[in-house]
Amino acid sequence: MKYLSTRGDQTPRSFSEILLEGLAPDGGLYLPEHYPKVDDAALSRWRGLSYAELAFEILSLYIDDIPAADLKALAAKTYTAAVFGTEAIVPLRALEPGVQLEALSNGPTLAFKDMAMQLLGNLFEYELGRRGETLNILGATSGDTGSAAEHAMRGKKGVSVFMLSPYGRMSPFQQAQMFSLQDENIHNLSVEGVFDDCQDIVKAVSNDLAFKRKWRIGTVNSINWARLLAQVVYYFAGYFQATKTNAEKVSFAVPSGNFGNVCAGHVARMMGLPIAQLVVATNENDVLDEFFRTGTYRVRGSAETFETSSPSMDISKASNFERFVFDLLGRDGARTCELFGATLQRDGAFTLSADEKARIAGFGFVSGSSTHADRLAAIRDTDARFGVVIDTHTADGLKVAREHLQQGVPMLVLETALPVKFADTIEEALGRRPALPAALADLESRPKRFTVVKADVDVIKAFVEAHA
Ligand SMILES: *Cc1c(COP(=O)(O)O)cnc(C)c1O
Repeated sequence: MKYLSTRGDQTPRSFSEILLEGLAPDGGLYLPEHYPKVDDAALSRWRGLSYAELAFEILSLYIDDIPAADLKALAAKTYTAAVFGTEAIVPLRALEPGVQLEALSNGPTLAFKDMAMQLLGNLFEYELGRRGETLNILGATSGDTGSAAEHAMRGKKGVSVFMLSPYGRMSPFQQAQMFSLQDENIHNLSVEGVFDDCQDIVKAVSNDLAFKRKWRIGTVNSINWARLLAQVVYYFAGYFQATKTNAEKVSFAVPSGNFGNVCAGHVARMMGLPIAQLVVATNENDVLDEFFRTGTYRVRGSAETFETSSPSMDISKASNFERFVFDLLGRDGARTCELFGATLQRDGAFTLSADEKARIAGFGFVSGSSTHADRLAAIRDTDARFGVVIDTHTADGLKVAREHLQQGVPMLVLETALPVKFADTIEEALGRRPALPAALADLESRPKRFTVVKADVDVIKAFVEAHA
């Protein structure tokens, strides 16, 4: 399998070549040159597999430059009951008839990003070891992504993590999740500033190409193809749990921000998984809902990007979205480049032609959005009727899922975080705080390891030089 760019660069690259990369050189995103088709016989064969075995089958369709035995071992080492809490890894839980939650948030940081990041940690260690190289991952986080990355990379040979976060601005739980890590390869830099300062510093360092090369600076952001590929697996795993035969279809409702999660659902559907609908759920930051309703993609400025009670979906533009549009446009790299390059730069928005917009339905996408009040209502209702406490992001998904139910088609709502991560809003909804998993009961009292630094590019560079 070779990979190409959504903006027209057809240079064939193998999986290992793009594993450690971000954007393609032409500014596009990497995609496989085609989606391998999974037929009825393969679906039947895969039904009985464990999650790790299923992951190996799917990964091996896209990765042909890692020996099969090694890839199998990496999948087996990643997806264990010890790390993800159950043998099923992504168990379903029934709500009302026809609606189930698929649990993606029982990994180490209690959010779905662990599903992909845990594999990425093992893939990075493997690939760097094979090349005899090292990598210094530099990132900025306001909470979730940074902690998933640190928990995935902790103790990995050849990898160090330098994670910038805004000093004093994360929740006590988020701070504890990151700062309690004592691994020598994990560096928490608590920046005297806000999240945007952290992000600006990461950009400035990455734009210094000489520094970047000398100190082998890399990232683990959500446009990484391996992360997306790892997420394809749980669409298959959810499907097999919800159905008995391959003649049945299911729909998925996906709390969405950067379009990484639901884009994996799109890939699964393109491979032939019988998916009826992919329901894109947004919060008040409704860039994606607006697109699926109107055919106009309009990125937001910071004044128009709201801080909501489902903060991991508070985005102004959706960084993985270009992948879907490329497929929607019949993989026309020139047209994709025109829309995401020139037009978006110039106008901050683009609008599909009527013809192009008409194709969306053929890809199964529908959408909706929710408000804070909707989330509180969904959390209360789910607690009262089913005795299940859901988090605020999952509440977005459930609210929008119910607007798109179809007779006879199970709806799987992806649970993207555990409620304890957003305890204040749960308390607002239910009048009580959600319980901590037993293993994390003492998390906030564990010793913390972090360094407070000035919001200054040179200070950060000096820290990397001293600790890389
Ligand atoms: C990251 C995240 C999302 C959004 O996922 P995307 O892949 O960015 O669409 C939703 N919910 C939670 C809890 C997250 O951490």
